[in-house]
Order: sequence, then C-alpha cells, then structure tokens
Amino acid sequence: MEKSLVNDNPLLLPFNRQQTVYDGFITVQERDFRMRIVLPPDRQLKQAKHCHFIIPPFKDVFSLAFDSSQRLQQSADLVGFILELKTVLEVVLKSRPECRSIPPPQYYSQLISEMETLGWDKLLFIDTEFQMLRLKAEDSAGRQHILTVKLKSKHPTEAPDCSADLPVPLAISWTPQSTLEQLHSQFLQVLESLTEFWDILDEIDSKTWILEPEKPSRSDTMRRIAIGNNVSIKVEVDPRHPRMLPECWLLGAEHVVTPLRNKLNANMHLWNPDSSVLHNLRDVLEIEFPSPATHEKSSFNVECGICYSYRLEAAIPDQVCNDPRCGQPFHQTCLYEWLRALHSSRQSFNIVFGECPYCSKVRVCLTV
Ligand SMILES: [Zn+2]
Ligand SMILES: [Zn+2]
Repeated sequence: MEKSLVNDNPLLLPFNRQQTVYDGFITVQERDFRMRIVLPPDRQLKQAKHCHFIIPPFKDVFSLAFDSSQRLQQSADLVGFILELKTVLEVVLKSRPECRSIPPPQYYSQLISEMETLGWDKLLFIDTEFQMLRLKAEDSAGRQHILTVKLKSKHPTEAPDCSADLPVPLAISWTPQSTLEQLHSQFLQVLESLTEFWDILDEIDSKTWILEPEKPSRSDTMRRIAIGNNVSIKVEVDPRHPRMLPECWLLGAEHVVTPLRNKLNANMHLWNPDSSVLHNLRDVLEIEFPSPATHEKSSFNVECGICYSYRLEAAIPDQVCNDPRCGQPFHQTCLYEWLRALHSSRQSFNIVFGECPYCSKVRVCLTV
C-alpha cells in the first residue's frame, strides 16, 4: 500500500519510522496542495486525523464539498482516500477557473523584486491576491494620478491589464522582459503628453463656474461653463489638440444665446492657439465669465420649473422659456412630458411648441 502511495504522490512522505505521520504535497492539475495526515499507533484509519492546508481562494468551497477528516476515517485505506481527495480537488479546480490561475511561487518573488526597483512609495494599494495594484504617479505640474495594474498569473510573460483616469486610451507596450518600473515610466510619458490639456481645463475649472460635470475627473473633456443666469456654454476640448478652437454649444434662451452665437461666428478667426481656451473664449464671445471670485454658484444652478430640482439623475435644466421676461429653466425630460400632456402644444418635425408652465406664453419649444 505504502509503495503505491509514494509512487502516486512522490511529494507526500512518511514523517516517522512508524509511518503514522505523512506530510508533504499532493499534486492536482499541476498544482501542489500541502497536507498532513496523522494516524493512530495501530495505523487504523478509523481514528485518523487528516489535516490539509489549501491555498485561500477556494478553501471555503472545498470544505463545503468535502469533510476530509470524516472521509479519511471512512476510507478503506490511505491510497483510496488520497485518490478520492484528488478527484474532489480536480472537480473544484475545474468549476472555479479563477483558482486555476493562481500564480506559481516565482510570480511573487518577481513582483517583489520589481516593486523594489520601482520603489514601494509608488504603491498605493495591493489586493489580497497580489494581482491588482494601484501605483501613484505625479506629472510635472504636480497633479496626482493613479495607474491600476492587473497582473496576469503568467506575469511578466503576459502583458498586464492597465487602466487610468485619462481622456485618451492608455496604450502600453509590453514584452516578456518588461517590468513594473518600465510600465510606470511609460505611464509618466502619457501623463506628460496630456499636461497641456489638463492645464487648460484646470484654468477653466478654477476661474469659472462649471455646471457640468458635477465633479470633473481627469478623463472628462467636456465642460459646461456658466455665462449668466440660465445661459451657459458647453465646450468639448480635444485632449490631443487642447489649444485649438473646441466644439462649442451655447445653451439658454434664444434672446441671450443669439447675440453670443453671432459673436462666436464673427470672431472665430481671432482664435489664438498660443493663448488658453479660457482667454480665447473671453475674447471671442466678448464677455467675462462669472468666477468663484465674483459670484456665488447658487446664482447659476436654478432649479427646474417643473420638478423643482436641479439635478434629475445626471441631467441639469438645459431648456429655457424663450420669453425674455420669463427665462425659466426646465429639464428636457420634464418639459417634454409637460408639453406632450398639453392639448394646445403642437409638433413640427422634431420640434415641439407649447405654453410655458410659468408665463403661459407659447414660447417654449423643444427639439426631440
Ligand atoms: Zn425637472
Ligand atoms: Zn415662460
């Protein structure tokens, strides 16, 4: 019996002369599982204790499926028990693909040596599986960024998955010889290529009131900037050419927006790529943007005249009554529901006309 046990499991060895303690590993699907079996002096399985040590991710599943000590006591012999144990392990491994991808020991030593080269101060977070890391990086303007790296079990042979809060796709080149330090320096280069874009947006964010997005992230290329009460401009800055004239949309009542649109069209040729977007917008529109230094934000986030809230899910009121004396803002969805319910409203192509819920003038229209 012992001979076939050792033949089948060369890493599981008797630990004493009496052969009552076995210690070592059993191998299932190219993975080794540490185990220890303690038999009573008469070597009868009925009193045997089995102790197994299994790598954390599927310990729970395994103990549910298999009470190993009990099975050991019921087995006819050790060979039969180990065979049964291996069969169960194989089933568990096959049903849980993530367990199969647990890295070999050299993965961890490789990871530690790479982190030592990169510098532990760059590590913000590592998960309990040692597969997902967050590395910090600072660009030349002192902005903090985070690179999320998901290492593959075959690291560094297989390229890791990388992601970051960027306005452009993160393209990383990776070879089996690449290291985390090289990855980090590639990330720094990507950050440097975007500093001008972030400089432009940081200036807008600090010197104007931003209505949208609520909390701009580093990947956001759009800003809706307050111009006045119920008037705003939405700009879409190109991360690759941040100083060029961005795409612009003026939002607000027609009587306010039309003169601004005329100025934008007439002065577009004055756009100076050596100047910042904010300076250019001021020059082209011939306005001063209200800023945190001059205005309270509450003067711009006027609530919707139908639902009385400012934010409806992510949307803010972007439709206004076109009567210059009213100018009440509404959410697009609220206004559409309102006009649809009115018998007096009419639709021409994709535009709905109807009475303003506030001033009752037929001055609200909506593109649907
Ligand atoms: Zn509303
Ligand atoms: Zn109105």
